Amino acid sequence: MKKIAIIGAGITGLSTAFYAKKAGHAVTVFDKNAEVGGVMQSHSQNGFIYESGPSTGVASLPEVVELFEDLGIRSKMEEAPSLSGNRFILKSGKLHPIPSDPISGLLTPLFSWKDKFGMPFEPFRPRGTDPNETLTSFVKRRLGESFLNYAVDPFVSGVYAGTPDDMIPRFALPKLYNLERDYGSFIRGSIAKMRQPKTARDKKASKKTFSAKGGLSTLTESLKNSIGTENFVMNSSPIVTPQEGKFSVQVGEKNYGIFDRVIFTAGASHVFEVFPFAKENFADASAVLYAKVAVAAVGFKHWEGLPLNGFGALMPSKEKRNILGILYMSSLFQNRAPQNGALLAVFVGGLRHPEFVSMSDAELKNLIGKEVAEILHLKQFNPDLFEITRHEEAIPQYDLKTPLREKAYRGIEEAFPGILMGGNGIDGIGMAKRIAQGRALAEKI
Ligand SMILES: Cc1cc2nc3c(=O)[nH]c(=O)nc-3n(C[C@H](O)[C@H](O)[C@H](O)COP(=O)(O)OP(=O)(O)OC[C@H]3O[C@@H](n4cnc5c(N)ncnc54)[C@H](O)[C@@H]3O)c2cc1C
Repeated sequence: MKKIAIIGAGITGLSTAFYAKKAGHAVTVFDKNAEVGGVMQSHSQNGFIYESGPSTGVASLPEVVELFEDLGIRSKMEEAPSLSGNRFILKSGKLHPIPSDPISGLLTPLFSWKDKFGMPFEPFRPRGTDPNETLTSFVKRRLGESFLNYAVDPFVSGVYAGTPDDMIPRFALPKLYNLERDYGSFIRGSIAKMRQPKTARDKKASKKTFSAKGGLSTLTESLKNSIGTENFVMNSSPIVTPQEGKFSVQVGEKNYGIFDRVIFTAGASHVFEVFPFAKENFADASAVLYAKVAVAAVGFKHWEGLPLNGFGALMPSKEKRNILGILYMSSLFQNRAPQNGALLAVFVGGLRHPEFVSMSDAELKNLIGKEVAEILHLKQFNPDLFEITRHEEAIPQYDLKTPLREKAYRGIEEAFPGILMGGNGIDGIGMAKRIAQGRALAEKI
């Protein structure tokens, strides 16, 4: 049994602590916040259940289902119904479904005829040669400009709140990058992948959208209870000092003793708050660009706009809208709004408009109201719920700083054996990746 300090009680740190405790280690989790969950927080108000951080996950790795199973709450994992496959992109003021088959692909006004007719030639286009090519260049080269503008750009702003000009596919979209690297083509690679035999464990992973009944906090609260509330030190900003191959952990005046391992799961900008001794040689560990995001939970007791029969709508940069996207939360998950009502999650800011995140609540309500009313055909914007949450460091960008950060993280681990580095500064931002990383860190102990 080892004594483990875990820094950060977001989904990564909680997953680490849960699996480390399950393996028999003594864990103490330190977090600056008063509540566990990090950015993942659900709230209940006035008949609505809303999220102030991430809203949905994709169960793209088996570790997601396994976490619910291992916690004994598989029945509380909520998968979105099949209509969540309907995703919309705004073009010229109208929402168009993202095509899901070759016929709709041919008929959609989202992409140009040149790019549609060029699609069958994608397998014959040469591989790229620059590993640091931007996503803009990568997609233009393989699929054409209209796919960049009306598929990839809105996707990147929906997931990363970023822009394809900054993203490096090798870091930001490794699955897509690997299709070209390993198969020379997205189409050829996707077909080959579909044909690969799947183990029972692989089948636990899917493209399904998930949450938890009652909101994502159901998952984080269950983790907290399994880890044991007595093993958390909340409202704490620990400082770690290496001591003869082990680590002393200090919070203010109080020393929490000597730990065999320290596992870091906070964001990259916080590395040196915890490990001040590492700054001199590993300054790049905090080399990170964050997109700022404001999330608005917008609820209506009676919905009178367009039918919300899908996942939501994304706004391509070309359309010059003031919001990044809208998720139809009450269509995805049960009991998020009163019957006949609707709950939307609206995202604002990102690298396109970081200045919007600093607007007052009234200004944001006005800005969001105009956009939502126009896009979803509401006569008046009179929501029964309007709650804004601002995230100054919402999403770390997987840009050219990523390899520098990764190298510095590995450098810290090598220079100070016993420290393990995680968090969403490396290995991806999505919930599935966070859970998988947490478990992998616990296994490394
Ligand atoms: C607005 C928003 C929407 C998102 N939407 C989605 C989505 O729909 N789907 C999806 O898959 N992902 C989404 N993401 C990304 C995903 O939510 C995150 O990558 C993930 O939740 C991060 O979890 P984490 O535990 O790594 O970090 P965090 O949740 O950031 O937790 C880190 C914890 O470390 C603590 N901490 C920081 N510094 C210190 C310190 N010095 N000492 C002690 N503790 C410290 C913090 O208080 C925090 O609790 C979204 C993120 C945001 C912000």
